[in-house]
Amino acid sequence: MAEQVEKVVIIGSGPAGWTAAIYAARANLQPLVIEGALSEENRLKGTLPLGQLNLTTEVENFPGFPHGVMGPELMLKMREQAERYGSRIVTEDVVDIDLQRRPFVITDSCGTVTRTHAVIIATGASANYIGLESESRFKNMGVSACAVCDGALPRFRNKPLVVVGGGDSAAEEGNYLTKFASDVYLVYRKTRDKMRASPIMAERLLGNPKVKPLWNSVVDEVLGDDERGMTGVRVRNVVTGATQRVDAPGMFVAIGHTPNTQFLKGQLELDPHGFIAIKDPARTTTSIEGVFAAGDVADPIYKQAITAAGMGCKAALDAERWLAAQEKLPAGESHGSQWNVG
Ligand code: NAP
Repeated sequence: MAEQVEKVVIIGSGPAGWTAAIYAARANLQPLVIEGALSEENRLKGTLPLGQLNLTTEVENFPGFPHGVMGPELMLKMREQAERYGSRIVTEDVVDIDLQRRPFVITDSCGTVTRTHAVIIATGASANYIGLESESRFKNMGVSACAVCDGALPRFRNKPLVVVGGGDSAAEEGNYLTKFASDVYLVYRKTRDKMRASPIMAERLLGNPKVKPLWNSVVDEVLGDDERGMTGVRVRNVVTGATQRVDAPGMFVAIGHTPNTQFLKGQLELDPHGFIAIKDPARTTTSIEGVFAAGDVADPIYKQAITAAGMGCKAALDAERWLAAQEKLPAGESHGSQWNVG
């Protein structure tokens, strides 16, 4: 019996992955989407299926939703749309991938081995932490990188909370936490005028009377004990060197993200910041022919849901054209075999 080989496997389930799946399914590629596992480990790492939008609240800038849309709702709709056009979905992680052989070989966390001619990698990025030992110690006992996931927990209700960072994530998380917290201390290593957050989001945050910014400041120790978990942080002013203690049962770290490429084990070329290097900037091609990348895993610049979705569309078209050029599609199935996708 002939070996079953997929035409294209899509790894990841954020806006890039689902858009790639919708386009690939509508092009008759019968894509297989490996969306990630519903595991406690993924919950702690922030890499559960449906990506970062599933960890956010209202998305106000995704076109087509004049009154905004909740992130999780948007993601479920994208998944449903991909499934409706014939995408198959596996709710596991990829634990091993061999891109040196053809067809490529993918092993998932359930032990299933899949062979495929083309791969689209859309595994996104996950939250960074400060890197303090005391921060790791109190993860899940006060330290979090996701206000939407953990903010409503009883331990945080009507208590002062700390948010670290100065970008849109810090602004969004801080604002969200004002619903539950008595005060929100924003710890930012620079000053108000240097904040990376968009002006509208920074103003919304800083205009909230519960928000107390600590400028030029970093958290240099998370305080607490095994019984109570985190009880506070030691904050250091980077200009004066002065330290102060802020009592709080929770700290939400919002200091950017790192692309999820660990499972590739060095098989694809990355840029100096760890994002998958795109070979032709106008496309989604990578250092290995037949492997395409889309979304935050390959985007150090824009990192938006809509740009990820656009890149997912490009990746599906690139994969389809590459498969046609390799004669991996039956005659008449290609929409663009004249394209030369390297
Ligand atoms: P970001 O824009 O990269 O901001 C990261 C912030 O963390 C910066 O203020 C940075 O400080 C600070 N930081 C980095 N490393 C640090 C460290 N080790 N210690 C202390 N502070 C540190 O990341 P983001 O806020 O996660 O946003 C990522 C992308 O998603 C952006 O494009 C953003 O627009 C988008 N986003 C959009 C929305 C929305 O529109 N609803 C919501 C969230 C995110 P410096 O400023 O000093 O570099």
